[in-house]
Amino acid sequence: NKTSNQMLIIFGASGDLTARKLIPALFNLYKDDHLPEKFVVLGVSRSDLTDVSFRKKVVTESSYLEEDLGKEEKEYVDKFADKIFYEDLGKSYDTDYTNLAHRISDLNTKYGTENNYIYYLSTPPNIYETVAKNLHKQGLTEESNGWKRFIVEKPFGYDLKSARELNNALHQYFKENQIYRIDHYLGKETVQNLLVTRFANSIFEPLWNRNYIHHIEITNAESVGVEKRGGYYDKSGALRDMFQNHLLQIVSLVAMEPPIGDEAEEIRNEKVKALKSLRIMKDHKTIHDHTIRGQYLAAEINGEKVKGYREEEGVDPDSTTETYAAIKFFVDNWRWKDVPFYVRTAKRMPTKVTEIVIHFKSTHHQIFTDSAGITNKDNQLIIRIQPDEGILIKFGVKVPGQGFKVERTNLDFYYSSLSDTNLMTAYERLLLDAMQGDATLYARADEVEAAWEFVDPILDYWQNGEDVVTYGYSAGVWGPKNADELIDGLYMWRNPGEH
Ligand code: NAP
Repeated sequence: NKTSNQMLIIFGASGDLTARKLIPALFNLYKDDHLPEKFVVLGVSRSDLTDVSFRKKVVTESSYLEEDLGKEEKEYVDKFADKIFYEDLGKSYDTDYTNLAHRISDLNTKYGTENNYIYYLSTPPNIYETVAKNLHKQGLTEESNGWKRFIVEKPFGYDLKSARELNNALHQYFKENQIYRIDHYLGKETVQNLLVTRFANSIFEPLWNRNYIHHIEITNAESVGVEKRGGYYDKSGALRDMFQNHLLQIVSLVAMEPPIGDEAEEIRNEKVKALKSLRIMKDHKTIHDHTIRGQYLAAEINGEKVKGYREEEGVDPDSTTETYAAIKFFVDNWRWKDVPFYVRTAKRMPTKVTEIVIHFKSTHHQIFTDSAGITNKDNQLIIRIQPDEGILIKFGVKVPGQGFKVERTNLDFYYSSLSDTNLMTAYERLLLDAMQGDATLYARADEVEAAWEFVDPILDYWQNGEDVVTYGYSAGVWGPKNADELIDGLYMWRNPGEH
């Protein structure tokens, strides 16, 4: 794909995300020759920085860039830094973009970026609307002489109502096809590989339905706690922070029908259909029976004392915000009728891992047993999103020797085994897509709203229900014991690393 000449204007450029993710991603794109010939970055925020000091902060003296730098690559750094500029908007951030418009225009003329602008909102979400409005006032959202795109970070809304309000507000200034709602999970290679696994192979899709799949399990585990984000996290919680966006996006890719093609709208139409098929849990009893929430408690892990969630900086000592959420739900459509989906996300787990497990039904008539005399070991397809991106199939083979004992073994593929593959990071991939106008991996307004529609009643019950329980779990274990009861029958959560 061709990437047209353009300018990337980052709002909130003094912040963590810009230095830690955006600039390193751009640098890698530059190194790998993915940036267009005429390209500049203009950082914008209220901090007292200049072109020179901003370049130092995010490029030449940035620890995030240095980490990855080999000797040869250092020569690129200065050339890359020359493409970076900064505009201090000071107090006019909220009110007046006249100066900003002049700066953009000057850079555009000088560097030949052809009036193509991407605005990246690397700021708290409460200012998205203000920025859009002020850009609009200056005619900077107009596409008559070059395209304009508007990328927003998560969180997109706090609940369904605020997400709708934000969509409506932004639609006053930008058309939907100009808005790119980033979900960095969709930038991950294995998340995209889900589509390829399903729709480029003939061996999975015929089985990908209620006739052959017993249930689906998705785990997102982090080993860290809330780190420095306690203040933000305490107002958010696991359901808002991870489930509504990243995990429901993954659910939509697992559950969607085959799209008619690979264009953004073709894929997003199917994703939104899947999200709209989620069975909304309306009454408190159903939510009570289908969800588990928990909070990590202080513990000692490998000889190191780890704080409990309520002792973390920025967290209310009486907080009931969940750091663990497990949800059982159904997708009400032809394909998935009565197939339970179990999705959990948590902090302070034994390991960092995100994976999808497709549990196939056992054979109808079982004639063999395994060495422990168990017959019901199912086939599993495990899609590992991070770390060690790859895919693994568990299937039964005969134990050598007499009789027909069966053991389950693994057939696997890891991206790391492709020797010369240099996986793009999620931000590299997503930035490049937006630069090329490809919104496939960005969430559309109706997708975001459909996801909130499912999550809203759970949030409401968790906040206002009379019999809500927040279970404690020791930091470093796989969450509260009660979550085991969420899964039907003889099945258990697959705790990666354990079995
Ligand atoms: P941040 O450091 O809190 O904020 C970025 C910058 O925004 C700040 O440096 C500040 O710059 C400006 N800002 C803060 N409050 C403002 C206000 N009220 N009005 C105008 N500007 C304001 O955030 P971040 O960690 O870089 O993240 C940026 C966005 O990405 C957020 O929406 C966050 O939720 C999202 N996000 C971040 C990460 C991450 O890893 N950091 C991951 C996923 C999503 P000035 O004071 O100089 O104007």
